Amino acid sequence: MKRTLLVTSALPYANGAIHLGHLVEYIQTDIWVRFQKLIGNNATYVCADDTHGTPIMLRAEKEGITPEALIARVHQEHLRDFTGFNIAFDLYHSTHSDENRECAETIYRNLRDAGLIETREIEQYYDEEKGMFLPDRFIKGECPKCGAADQYGDNCESCGAAYTPSELKNPRSAVSGSVPVLKPSQHYFFKLSDARCQQFLRDFTRSAPDGIPVLQHEAANKMQEWLGTPGENKLSDWDISRDAPYFGFAIPDAPGKYFYVWLDAPIGYMGAFKALAKKEGLDFDAYWKPDAKTELIHFIGKDILYFHALFWPAMLHEGGFRVPTRICAHGFLTVDGAKMSKSRGTFITAESYLQQKLNPEWLRYYFASKLNGTMEDIDLNLDDFIAKVNSDLVGKYVNIASRCAGFIKKQFEGTLGETDRAVFDRIVTDEALAEVAAAMEARDSARAMRQIMHLADEANLYVNDKQPWLLAKDPEQRDQLHIVATTALNLFRSLSVLLKPVLPAVASQIESFFNGAPLTWADARQPLPAGHRINDYAHLMNRIERPMVDALIAANAESLQATETSKAEKANDKKKEQKADKAVDQKQDSKAATEGAHISIDDFTKVDLRIAKIINAEHVEGADKLIRLQLDIGETENGQPKFRQVFAGIKSAYDPALLIGRLTVMVANLAPRKMKFGLSEGMVLAASDTEGNHPGLYILSPDSGAQAGMRVK
Ligand SMILES: [Zn+2]
Repeated sequence: MKRTLLVTSALPYANGAIHLGHLVEYIQTDIWVRFQKLIGNNATYVCADDTHGTPIMLRAEKEGITPEALIARVHQEHLRDFTGFNIAFDLYHSTHSDENRECAETIYRNLRDAGLIETREIEQYYDEEKGMFLPDRFIKGECPKCGAADQYGDNCESCGAAYTPSELKNPRSAVSGSVPVLKPSQHYFFKLSDARCQQFLRDFTRSAPDGIPVLQHEAANKMQEWLGTPGENKLSDWDISRDAPYFGFAIPDAPGKYFYVWLDAPIGYMGAFKALAKKEGLDFDAYWKPDAKTELIHFIGKDILYFHALFWPAMLHEGGFRVPTRICAHGFLTVDGAKMSKSRGTFITAESYLQQKLNPEWLRYYFASKLNGTMEDIDLNLDDFIAKVNSDLVGKYVNIASRCAGFIKKQFEGTLGETDRAVFDRIVTDEALAEVAAAMEARDSARAMRQIMHLADEANLYVNDKQPWLLAKDPEQRDQLHIVATTALNLFRSLSVLLKPVLPAVASQIESFFNGAPLTWADARQPLPAGHRINDYAHLMNRIERPMVDALIAANAESLQATETSKAEKANDKKKEQKADKAVDQKQDSKAATEGAHISIDDFTKVDLRIAKIINAEHVEGADKLIRLQLDIGETENGQPKFRQVFAGIKSAYDPALLIGRLTVMVANLAPRKMKFGLSEGMVLAASDTEGNHPGLYILSPDSGAQAGMRVK
């Protein structure tokens, strides 16, 4: 029976670029949706930018533009990147839309009418200089437990303690730097502690519509922890309002109050669908009313489970709508076994991947071959990436067609012959297809890809065994050659059906090569008949060469100023470590995350800091931000002075000619890094104001008398 599905990916925040970590989710969802469409289901895929909140408001202000202008620009950038990776949304919308406002207001009014909204006066830090209440992450001070300096208002990154901003010692506003004052304010709460919500969530998180659990096993366990045992009532009410000034939707009948960004973000799924329904004449109620027969499937990262498995279903259920059929969480992406890192160049943006002309379908295939439907993290191992794509896609899959297409074209005027059904039916069995389909349905694309590559091996064995290149030399074997080449091409066509959700661009080339209608799932079991004319074979996919990947890493490393590197990396690490169950506001500008955690003296002495004399400095052809430095740190080789080469991202601030002869400070034991322009053998230290009040870069100088090579301790 044909299923009707509405599928979503989490909404990216309109405050930064899409990177490969994001793409795991969009590629996973897109493959799943394309698979559903391929097997004949009626699937709709919507997403949107998540556009509200304090970070957006402050960033727009910093850029001197309106929040509307900021989110319009980011929308274009996000859509460009997604399109580049062949992510085929039916609609990519925005949470800052009329449809979303209507949906948010409806849900809010229904919750209020059900007695589930309560107002309470709370005390909150207020920045008098800026005239605004401060979100927890915009307040910094000393940890009340361990005294660590420069900690956020919600938890200490040094000792891990959680607390409220009012417990912080010597608090400061991260916006203006002024001392905030506690000020009372009326806030609106969604009463999650209400017995109705608790009971509903207990049932919901353990439900299994159509026999499939709504949550993955590990996610369901996590929810039980958060909910506690039936008597415990562990959920507290959820603060859903923020005070003006705030970029978001005004709460109806509540002057000066706005919906907290996390309230209207998931409603953005509904808002986006509403906009699509208007455009395409779809029945909104058939998808969203409580008795809807359609399926609602959310793909998310494991860090936002709390919002999607508790707050969101409770809002929907108590707000008069249907609840999700399934919530599919995935893990984080690591690169070469480590967290993505700006200093190592592994914090790779979608834009740079496309600009470096790497084939997006390489990455789609690689992610597909790693994702197994669980919440485990997946690793993009760059050597494995190159090896797997070259071996599986080029060496096994494309190879079948490139070896056999020429015979059909040259010897048989592009016309197919008979297919050896015994061979075809032995390889492309109903069982094999069912196995691939079951794995794809379960989002275990890793298993599906292994199965498909097994079939590709079988097809290659057949070609190796029949040796069509020898048959082609013997006129008496002409009929046999026609059968072998045709059978191999039909096997290739069946594999192309199975890979179509993963490789949509390649599939579309293959569809025109076979000169037929778009491939459907049924085509996998149905070879093209004798006499069918095919088109000329065009090369389908190149191998990945190592220098392409090196250039990608270099492009992402050089885009960052050396001084910002470790900070940005740490901010990213912290962000990932952030515990979802603290329900903190995760939508923070990572730039606000300056670090205050203590390190030991041993950690510090690991860094070999040296006085360096700048022997030479010059521009680097083709690099926007880099200056090439030759540095003397007192090293010699065979009695000759040996200089270090360092590429420093200081071009915006310094004329190379004026740097020559100066002394500065460098990190001498940083692992050398291969860049597009050569080897960088260290890092020069420079100061900068990342908050942007005093833009610019300032390299360090020692006091007079210091000599090149001296250790800095
Ligand atoms: Zn602490």
